[in-house]
Amino acid sequence: MGWRQDDFCRWTLLEGDTATLTSVTGDACPCMAWRSPGYSPEWHRLNSESDACNGTGLINTSTETTSIKGFFYRTDIHYSFLTEDQKIPIGELQDADVVLFGQVNATTGAFVDLSSANVRADKITLDSVDYEIRKILEPSITGRIGQMTTLKRKS
Ligand SMILES: [Zn+2]
Repeated sequence: MGWRQDDFCRWTLLEGDTATLTSVTGDACPCMAWRSPGYSPEWHRLNSESDACNGTGLINTSTETTSIKGFFYRTDIHYSFLTEDQKIPIGELQDADVVLFGQVNATTGAFVDLSSANVRADKITLDSVDYEIRKILEPSITGRIGQMTTLKRKS
């Protein structure tokens, strides 16, 4: 007998830690499609009159912040729950990184899906520290309830 996602969302809204999700949307920067897919500092050197995307891959951006609730863990605890196959795509984690299990909108209690998060531009802020959204394990892997997301501390 497993938990259903709406039970999980109610529990997360009551007991979770509060953090802020910053979502950035915009137009794809031309540097992203130049030569090879991905951010290109070289394109910006050659096109210095064009808008700088500052590594986000987006220009003409707008930013939305959402108060969320979820459970934040140290990475060593998270690692002990994972199989070897699941550890590989996450890669090396540092002590300063954290893992988020959740997550819901802190106002409405609705599940917040991070699967379309922009890894380069979006961030999660917990206790005034900014984290990059690194790797998301879908509910199918984490017991069909919440997503498990690796957060890399930004320097
Ligand atoms: Zn760019």
